[in-house]
Amino acid sequence: MADKQKGLLMVFTGNGKGKTTAALGLTFRALGHGHRVCFIQFIKGSWKYGELETAKKFSGQLDFHVMGRGFTWKSDDIDKDIAVARDGWEFAKKIIAENRHHLVVLDELTYLVTYKMIEVTEILEVLSARDKRQHIVITGRDADGKLVEAADLVTEMREIKHPYASGIKAQKGIEF
Ligand code: ATP
Ligand code: MG
Repeated sequence: MADKQKGLLMVFTGNGKGKTTAALGLTFRALGHGHRVCFIQFIKGSWKYGELETAKKFSGQLDFHVMGRGFTWKSDDIDKDIAVARDGWEFAKKIIAENRHHLVVLDELTYLVTYKMIEVTEILEVLSARDKRQHIVITGRDADGKLVEAADLVTEMREIKHPYASGIKAQKGIEF
């Protein structure tokens, strides 16, 4: 890692589309400079995400991990969801502490706070103890005020139009 690097805490939130894709865009950029990236997805959808296939082509440089067992709002076993979320968070803590990556993406982490699976104060403690040069991205709707306050960069994706409203379903290569 370059000496003068200042690790940023970046948050992509809001109801509009583009949070995860922005994180993937930053990943793409960092990889181009030869940096290592760890991308952790906390909420696993039922789709076959294109990014999972792309990640395989960058193995060794891009570590891609999918946590969770489906969307919590479809859940039939909340206790199990909480346990899986906690496991995912413990894994993320380890990755951050090991400091082997230039950029660590915690995709959809905000939902774990919203659903009270982890405390935002615990997240902030872990982030403030990280190496000063390590960049972190957190995505997800309804980012907690404390997280927004602690961040160096916060972008809110605001929905102006989404094809879903016109009845256009999720498409391969666009939504997944
Ligand atoms: P993407 O992964 O496409 O960047 P996102 O990370 O901003 O989207 P999430 O809140 O993680 O959005 O939601 C995931 C899925 O919901 C995506 O397939 C996305 O297209 C869809 N979605 C996002 N915003 C909206 C919206 N305003 N209306 C309907 N569907 C949406
Ligand atoms: Mg997303």
